[in-house]
Amino acid sequence: MASATTTKPKTIKPPKVKDQKLFIGGKWRDAVSGKTFPTINPATGEVICQVAEGDKADVDLAVKAARKAFESGPWPKMSAAERGRLLHKLADLIEENLKELAALESLDNGKPIRDSLNVDLPLTIKCYRYYAGWADKIHGKTIPVEGPYFCYTRHEPIGVVGQIIPWNFPLLMQAWKWGPALATGCTVVLKPAEQTPLTALRVAELAQEAGFPDGVINVVPGYGPTAGAAISEHMDVDKVAFTGETTTGQIIMQAAARSNLKRVSLELGGKSPNVVFADADLDAAIEGAYFGLFFNQGQCCCAGSRLFVEEAIHDQFVDKMLKKAKSRKVGNPFDLTTEQGPQVSQEQMDRILGYIDAGKKEGAELLCGGNRLGTKGYFIEPTVFDNVSDSMKIAREEIFGPVMSILRFKDIDEVIQRGNQTHYGLAAAVWTRDITKAHRIANSYRAGTVWVNCYDVFDAAAPFGGFKMSGFGRELGEYALELYTEVKTVYVRLS
Ligand code: ADP
Repeated sequence: MASATTTKPKTIKPPKVKDQKLFIGGKWRDAVSGKTFPTINPATGEVICQVAEGDKADVDLAVKAARKAFESGPWPKMSAAERGRLLHKLADLIEENLKELAALESLDNGKPIRDSLNVDLPLTIKCYRYYAGWADKIHGKTIPVEGPYFCYTRHEPIGVVGQIIPWNFPLLMQAWKWGPALATGCTVVLKPAEQTPLTALRVAELAQEAGFPDGVINVVPGYGPTAGAAISEHMDVDKVAFTGETTTGQIIMQAAARSNLKRVSLELGGKSPNVVFADADLDAAIEGAYFGLFFNQGQCCCAGSRLFVEEAIHDQFVDKMLKKAKSRKVGNPFDLTTEQGPQVSQEQMDRILGYIDAGKKEGAELLCGGNRLGTKGYFIEPTVFDNVSDSMKIAREEIFGPVMSILRFKDIDEVIQRGNQTHYGLAAAVWTRDITKAHRIANSYRAGTVWVNCYDVFDAAAPFGGFKMSGFGRELGEYALELYTEVKTVYVRLS
C-alpha cells in the first residue's frame, strides 16, 4: 500500500511590514522633519514600507535620552549581573522570534533565507549571550604603587555611544555593537544602514520587552551624511563605533576629531588574500575559497577577494571552481534552496558591474558570469576572473560582490610580498598541509584575522578587526570591552 508523502514547502512567505518610526527614549516617534524614506526589497526593486527619516534634530533627541538614561534612572543603579540578565532575556526573545527576524532580514537585505536562519540569527543570539556573561566580569586591578597608598583601577562605561552600522549583516552588526556596549553599562544611539533599517527596529522593540530602561537604547534610521554625520559630530556623544567603507571611516574620524575628540573604533574594508598552495587538500580549498568569496552575495568585508593559486595546481583548481560557480543557485531569497540572492541595492549592483567592466578592459580573463541576471531586482551572475594581475583595479579595490579574482603565484616569498601589497589588512587565509608554510603565512600577513585551512570562521569569543586601513579596535571577545570602557585610577591614602 502506498503511503502518503508530505513534501516540505520549499518557499517561505515574505512577511508583511507596516511603516516604521524612530525609537527614542522608549517611544516610537515620527522624525522631527516629518520626512520618511522607502526601504526597498532588493529581490524585486519594490518598496517594502516607509521609514521615519532621522536627521540632526532626531539624533539630538536620542542623545539627550541616552545621556539621561546613562546618568539617572534605573540603568546606572542596576547591578552588573542585572545588565547581564537583560542581555540574556534579549537573546531569548530573539530566539523566540527567530523565524520572523530571519524573514525580515532576508526581505530587507536580500540574503537567502537559509543563511538568515542558519548563520545570521544563530550568530546574533550567541553574541548577545556571550556579552551577557561578561557583564559582571568586567573589573580593574589593584596595583602595588610606592608609598602609603592603595591604588586600584575601575573599568567604567565610556558613556553615550553612537553606533553606525552597514547593511551586509544588519542583525549581527547590531549585536556586535550592542553586546559589549550594554554589558559595560553604556547607553546607545544606533543608526542602521538606510538600506536595511527593519530588523534593528524590531530588536529595539524586543529590547524594550526584555526590560531595558527607556533611553538605554535608541534607534535612529536615516542617511549617512545627515543622521550618521550628526552622530559623529555630536558634542555629547562619548564614542562612535562604525562599520563600513574606509572612506566613510575617514570622514567619521575627522568629525570626531573636529568635535569633542570622542573615542572612535572603525571596522572598515578589506581586500583579503586567500592563498592556495599546491600541497593543499584541493577539494577543501576549493570549497573554502568558493564560500569565502561568494557567501552573502560577496558582500563581506573579509571576503577572500584576492585568490592566489599556486601555478602547479592552477588549471585543475580553476576547472573545479568553474563547475561550482556555474551551478550556484541564484534567485528568490525566500526559496529554501537558493544559495545567492540579489545585491542589496541598485547602487551596489551598478558599482559591481562597473568593476566587472574594468576587469574585462584591463585584460583579466572572464571565465563565467559577468552580467546582471534578469531585469527585476539586483541579481548578478556568479563571476570568475582568471589571470588577474596585482595592478588591476579588481585586484586592488573592494568589489563587495560575487566576483572572484584568481591570481597565480610561484612561491611563498612572492605570495607573502604580493599579499601584503595593499592598504587593507582585515583578513587572510592559507590552504596547505605544510605546518611551516601555514605558520609563516599566519605570521607574515599584516591582517587582523588569519584562517588556516578554513575561511569565515567567527565566534563571539574571538576578536575581529583590521590592521592598516581596515580600521582599528577589535570587536568581539574580551577585546571589545576595551572599546566601551574608560580606565579610572584611584589612589587612597592609607596613613
Ligand atoms: P556602503 O557604501 O557599503 O553603504 P558606507 O560606509 O557608506 O558603506 O555605509 C555604512 C554606514 O555608514 C551606513 O549606516 C551609512 O548610512 C553610514 N554613513 C555613510 N556616510 C556617512 C557619513 N558621512 N557620516 C556618518 N555615517 C555615514
